[in-house]
Amino acid sequence: MARAFQNYIAGAWTNAANGKTFENRNPANWNEVLGTFPNSDKADVSRAVEAASAVFNEWRLTPAPKRGDILKRVGDLMTQHKESIAREMTREMGKVLVETRGDVQEGIDTAYYAASEGRRLFGHTAPSELRNKFNMSIQVPIGVAGVITPWNFPMAIPTWKIFPALVCGNAIVFKPATDTPATGTRLVELLVEAGLPAGVINLVHGGGTGVGMPLVEHPKVRAISFTGSTQVGKTISAAATNTLKRVSLELGGKNAQIVMADADVDLAMEGVLWGAFGTTGQRCTATSRLILHEKIHDSFLSALIKRAEKLRLGDGLEANTEIGPLVNQSQVDTVESYVKIGKDEGAKLETGGERYTEGACKNGFFYRPTIFSGVKPDMRIAKEEIFGPVLSVIKIKSLDEAIAVLNDTRYGLSSSIYTRDVNAAFRAIRDIEAGITYINGPTIGAEAHMPFGGVKETGNGHREGGWQVYEFFTETKTVYVDYSGRLQRAQIDNQ
Ligand code: NAD
Repeated sequence: MARAFQNYIAGAWTNAANGKTFENRNPANWNEVLGTFPNSDKADVSRAVEAASAVFNEWRLTPAPKRGDILKRVGDLMTQHKESIAREMTREMGKVLVETRGDVQEGIDTAYYAASEGRRLFGHTAPSELRNKFNMSIQVPIGVAGVITPWNFPMAIPTWKIFPALVCGNAIVFKPATDTPATGTRLVELLVEAGLPAGVINLVHGGGTGVGMPLVEHPKVRAISFTGSTQVGKTISAAATNTLKRVSLELGGKNAQIVMADADVDLAMEGVLWGAFGTTGQRCTATSRLILHEKIHDSFLSALIKRAEKLRLGDGLEANTEIGPLVNQSQVDTVESYVKIGKDEGAKLETGGERYTEGACKNGFFYRPTIFSGVKPDMRIAKEEIFGPVLSVIKIKSLDEAIAVLNDTRYGLSSSIYTRDVNAAFRAIRDIEAGITYINGPTIGAEAHMPFGGVKETGNGHREGGWQVYEFFTETKTVYVDYSGRLQRAQIDNQ
């Protein structure tokens, strides 16, 4: 009998008020039901927001270093349970064990960073233009924050949002993706075990319309941190306008790796294999386009096809598996539709382009690594996010052309260039339109203490990770202390 999971509201585990549930299944074996989860709605969201609101004042007044101590304990607990969390995550969303371990590690790194940030949360001091007056700014919590996350990094992405939000003194309502509710639950269990007071974290399971949107629309929710598709991000942004709440959006990508003629081609080969087919292409930073210089195009492409065909598909829990399944049927449908679009547009399908159903894989959503060559920058497979193991190869003649092709998309998350020419590398750093640029590394590989996010339709200007996310989760209060004992008028008495 599969476990019946629950919401966590006001410090108690509870079912959805409407009594409805949904199932969570293993994408490597769709017959395996991992659990049932509350299919909550607006009533549960309201209860959760009220619970968070009720404890906010007490949490706000808890010293930030003490809040940080709880996150230190969460980091320790995640370290202790790393393997079991990773295994559960692989069963729930499919990516291979080495990657789910990395996903947990990113959460651990984020916990320890957040714990230490409890002893910083720096403000500024600046001189006053008047005598006997002191000026400073301090960072204060916002209130109740809503956290809405996708399924592809089920532990790392929620921790990027929840840990900084907590250390800054906010209370949280968290809605994980319906494909990865067990990992979301595990995170909340660890926060509770670490001693987070009741009501400070609330977990509400359910869909985007039933739970996500009521959270965005709730007037008592003062900030929303969302990671997901650009389409949903725009809907959220529009809905949040009515209550003028602060919204951080981390959205889609169409990331590219450039390989110049002078590059270390072996290194570039390892980079594109990892970037394009790691996590079965289901990363916001996945390499979806490979921009190859004409001098190395043919040799690089033929070697790449051979390597891609050798990648071992299978259950991510098995030791020698390199590529797990896609997360669900809808992802398979999207990938299949883009493979058809690519063929219809006249690109050459070099390898893949079909589901993989050998042996036990017949019960899962496996798809062969797929490479299109002869792709033109204006084709849809060169412009639109696919979120699967599909790589579009584009031939270019110069660095200028490579950068122009790379920039020719509505997204701007990650980017990469392989070259031994330092001048070319610095021109790429200057001219590529993306939130992240790697030199001689693949498009994936974010570190928890560095800002993460993108430009154009990848986001709305905020960053996760590093020091910047602490600005998102706090308000700046400007403070003037006049110790002159008399009325001093700025811009008047000092002229
Ligand atoms: P999605 O947009 O479908 O869903 C994301 C979350 O939003 C889920 O929890 C979902 O239930 C919820 N949601 C859906 N509709 C909603 C609505 N109307 N109101 C409120 N919430 C709603 O995305 P997904 O399929 O889970 O994830 C894949 C997408 O996420 C890709 O586009 C990928 O590029 C993007 N992504 C971006 C980043 C980044 O940092 N830029 C990281 C990971 C994934």
